[in-house]
Amino acid sequence: VDATDVVLRTHGLTKVFRGFTAVDAVDLEVRRGTVHALVGPNGAGKTTLFNLLSGFLKPTSGTIEHEGRDITGRQPEEIAHLGIARSFQITSLFDKLTARQHLELALGSPTGIGYRFWRSEKRLARFEGRAMELLDEVGMADQANREVGHFAYGQKRAVELALALALDPSLMLLDEPTAGMGVEDVDRTIALIARIARGRTVVFVDHNMHVVGSLADRVTVLQQGAVLVEGSYDEVRTDPKVITAYLGQ
Ligand code: ADP
Repeated sequence: VDATDVVLRTHGLTKVFRGFTAVDAVDLEVRRGTVHALVGPNGAGKTTLFNLLSGFLKPTSGTIEHEGRDITGRQPEEIAHLGIARSFQITSLFDKLTARQHLELALGSPTGIGYRFWRSEKRLARFEGRAMELLDEVGMADQANREVGHFAYGQKRAVELALALALDPSLMLLDEPTAGMGVEDVDRTIALIARIARGRTVVFVDHNMHVVGSLADRVTVLQQGAVLVEGSYDEVRTDPKVITAYLGQ
């Protein structure tokens, strides 16, 4: 693999919590333009790995490289600024702001994630065009001027995806993008992620194998913190080790 084709690479990435190894010497390689799923039984270390990649946890050992640069131990804000955007499972939106205002605030803050810092409407007006493009990308342009507090769950998740896109990220980390959704919202979200993944690199965690099979070019299966298998969805789906890992849950 040409090194420039690798957006993210970890070497021996390890996280130990008081003697318990939650992430165990993980070597991960995420190629540019691919959608890469992280799966595994409960407790496999997926969330911890995501927290390491986005800087919310510091590794006990091992390294993380982004675009060939060592980013091990960087703060979450720095990592976001470098172009790794994480969309959260837990909603972080403000009920009284419209969808457009959320995007304008995100676009108008130096790190792209500081929409907590209020800016004057006038200064933010110059971001309206880009805000509307991003909302259009997630299918929410017609809801732009509604307060987010009125949105259904799936609509809030779409706004959160647009906020992650506002960073113009080289890598998107999506933490259980379909968690808590009914079948219809799941299918809508699959279509949405497929759309935003065009020309982008995405790593996501999801328990729903229909979602993984529909979206992922590559799948890494974790078990007890370590990589059990890596491959295409069909390769991992039929791997006896994976079947045993899930049946043993
Ligand atoms: P997953 O997301 O795959 O379900 P997690 O990364 O949440 O797995 O957890 C992996 C393991 O690490 C679990 O056994 C969990 O109990 C443990 N763990 C996670 N965070 C902590 C923590 N802050 N302190 C101690 N143990 C933790």
